[in-house]
Amino acid sequence: VNFGGIEAGGSKWVCAIGDGPDGVRDSLVFPTSTPEETMGRAVDFLAGGGPVAAVGIGSFGPVDLREGSPAWGRITTTPKPGWANVDVAGRLHEALGVPIGFDTDVNAAALGEHCWGAAQGFDTFAYITVGTGIGGGGMAGGRLLHGLLHPEVGHMRIPHDRERDPFDGACPYHGDCLEGLASGTALHARWGLPATEIESDEAWELEADYLALGLVNLVATLSPQRIIVGGGVPKRDGLLPLIRERVHALTGGYFAAAELDGGLDRYIVPPALEDRSGVLGAIELARRAL
Ligand code: ZN
Repeated sequence: VNFGGIEAGGSKWVCAIGDGPDGVRDSLVFPTSTPEETMGRAVDFLAGGGPVAAVGIGSFGPVDLREGSPAWGRITTTPKPGWANVDVAGRLHEALGVPIGFDTDVNAAALGEHCWGAAQGFDTFAYITVGTGIGGGGMAGGRLLHGLLHPEVGHMRIPHDRERDPFDGACPYHGDCLEGLASGTALHARWGLPATEIESDEAWELEADYLALGLVNLVATLSPQRIIVGGGVPKRDGLLPLIRERVHALTGGYFAAAELDGGLDRYIVPPALEDRSGVLGAIELARRAL
C-alpha cells in the first residue's frame, strides 16, 4: 500500500509517496507560494504518482487539531500572507478523495523519529526544531502532544538579560520569547549575518544559553525521556555540546536521572532521520488515518 506524505512548511513543501524510510517511491520538493498553487502542485504529484490509500500532512501553523472542530485541518492565525484560515486538509481530501491525517510539522517529525529514528522505544519525548522559527512537538504516554491547541515551544518565555543582550527580540507577537531570541531569524537580526556565517564565540554561547533554558523548561514540564533537536541552526559544529553543558549546569543536579548527569550526549540528540523526519512522519500520519 502506498501513502502520500506532505511536510507542508512555510518556505517549502516536501511531498513523498511510499510506506517508510526504505520505501519512498517518489518525492518532490517545491517552494511554498500561494495556497492554490502550492496545494495544486501537491495534488498533481500525489494523483500522478499514486494511487495513494491516504495522505498525511505535517503543516506549519498554528493549525486547528481539535477533534470535532469545524476548523479542523486548517491553518489558523499565521502572519504568512494568504495562508490564514486556509483549509489544507479539506482541499486535499476534496481533490484526492482519500482519508487525511493532519498534524503540526513538528509533531509529524516527532512521529517519524518515533517510528524509525531517535525516539524509537520512548513514549514521552520532545522534538524541537530551530530554524527560521522555533517549533516543538512530541509525545506523552505514546500520544502526539495535543491539548487546548498544540504546543508552541518557540513562544515560551525565558529570562533575558538585557545588559548582556540588548537585542529586543524578533517575535512579532512577543518580542523576546525563545523564538524571538534564538531562532535563525533572531540570530540574523542581532548579529547582521545569516546563522551559517556567524563565527563569534559570544554569539554561539548566547545561543546555547537560550536554547538550554528552553530545553530545561521542557525537562521540568514534559519530563521527556529524550529530546531531539533538529533544524538548520543546531547543525552548527559544537553547538549541541555547548547546549548539553548549559543544560547540565542549569538543572543543578536536581533531577535524579543518569540521562541528565553524564548521559546528556544520549539525551539531547540530533534527529536520526536527518531532514526526512517530517515527510516520513507524514507518511505514518497517513497510515494512521486509514
Ligand atoms: Zn513569540
